[in-house]
Amino acid sequence: MTAISVITAPGIKDSWLDYTVRLMSHLSGLNLQLVTASETPIEGPRLYYGVRPEKSGMPFIPRCPGYAPGQMRFVPLDCGESGMQEVLVYSDTLNETGNGIDLLFNLFAYASCLEEWEHERRSGPVHSYALRLKGDGRRFDRPYANYIALALRRLIDQAFPGVCPPASAAGAICLTHDIDVVDKALVTRLKEGVFRLFNAGRSMATGRPSMAVDTLVSAWRLATSREGYFHLETIAALEARHGFVSTFNVFTRQRPGSVSGFLLRAIFDPPYDLARHPRLVAALKRLAARGHEIGIHFAFDAWRDAESMQAERQVAEGILKTGSIVSARQHWFRFSLADTWQAQQQAGIEVDATLGFTDRPGFRAGLASPFHPYDHATGKALDMVAIPTVLMDTHLYYYGNLSVAKRRKTVRHLLGEVGAVDGEACVLWHTHVFSADHGWGEDYEALLGMMGVLNLESRLVREGLGGPEKLPGPPGSCEVQAALGAA
Ligand SMILES: [Zn+2]
Repeated sequence: MTAISVITAPGIKDSWLDYTVRLMSHLSGLNLQLVTASETPIEGPRLYYGVRPEKSGMPFIPRCPGYAPGQMRFVPLDCGESGMQEVLVYSDTLNETGNGIDLLFNLFAYASCLEEWEHERRSGPVHSYALRLKGDGRRFDRPYANYIALALRRLIDQAFPGVCPPASAAGAICLTHDIDVVDKALVTRLKEGVFRLFNAGRSMATGRPSMAVDTLVSAWRLATSREGYFHLETIAALEARHGFVSTFNVFTRQRPGSVSGFLLRAIFDPPYDLARHPRLVAALKRLAARGHEIGIHFAFDAWRDAESMQAERQVAEGILKTGSIVSARQHWFRFSLADTWQAQQQAGIEVDATLGFTDRPGFRAGLASPFHPYDHATGKALDMVAIPTVLMDTHLYYYGNLSVAKRRKTVRHLLGEVGAVDGEACVLWHTHVFSADHGWGEDYEALLGMMGVLNLESRLVREGLGGPEKLPGPPGSCEVQAALGAA
């Protein structure tokens, strides 16, 4: 593939810039090489970053790597085959004349969750609750980082026709299922009952009395019925009809080390013990034999505990004997940018699917692609790969309390966005919600149908490893100038 020089001023090959150029290469399908003017080949396609070109007509991007958190605006960007798109960027990254945008810094700010990182440094992790994050929440609505990469590709294509290779294949969805409940237990009735009572109140407060009554009836049914919650085979059969396979994340109980640990696990962890559940073990072995993937669903309080993660993974491998487990998702999306991926990496995890929100669907890093996350502490890319999770069943029901029409519209929007950027992202449907108590399987069937209509393939989470080339960054600190005074 033809190398395209990204020319920067001498002395400012920052670690964030090196990472971003490599990530941009992966997302745009181009071979971008970061060089200074003196290192630039005499001939060949090039893009000037913060350095004025000697000749007119050369593609140029201003260098404005500073931002005031929350200060964003929409700008129209030509994204080539994806058409003109209104893309949300940081206002400070537009140059003074208003006719250029620092695409590279915006990509970095999205992909590295820069605002979230600053928040975490000051106030601790948000543990995947978008509501706890300040700033412009619209930045999570679409995969803006992917659109920024497509806009840069378009810039190169216009200046150097024929240099860009054909666009990549169609997009893909990783269908995933966290196994939180396999038998209806008292704690399930209580946890989900509370959600339903709360939503009945919300429906009344927003003038939807019939929805409130339906929710109350479903809460009563949940509390009193003896419904079966074991639906792994149902899900696999549904997916087989579409030619899809999926990833099932299983939990393994660990002994708590303290009284508080015991209480946390009793309340929040899945209420089953894989070692004492031969039906579950047999079902997972059958699924693995049919091409599904078994991932690990780490415990509620394991989000920064590499030792616990490693033990949980090894216990699952020892019981199932279906091969090495390389992918994971944290239970309850408990996650910290500073700690979770590092701990997972130490525990032998290679692909993680936790990067999503608990309380809303969307693109937490502006991305709908597997990528090597940026470690702000070291200025380097991590070895492991993250695949964003953009939709979970409870977003539509417990958190969103949406009507059927709005649920379908939300699913259509998210899948459409992944397809529009030829991206890849996870969706999560829990295994027990195919019960009559929930009836959420119908929306899942609709989702599978929409994937066919949108020409989206299904992919296993572990296949994300075959995606991006590793994105190593040189040692050194990130010299981003965040205007924290505006936070
Ligand atoms: Zn879970």
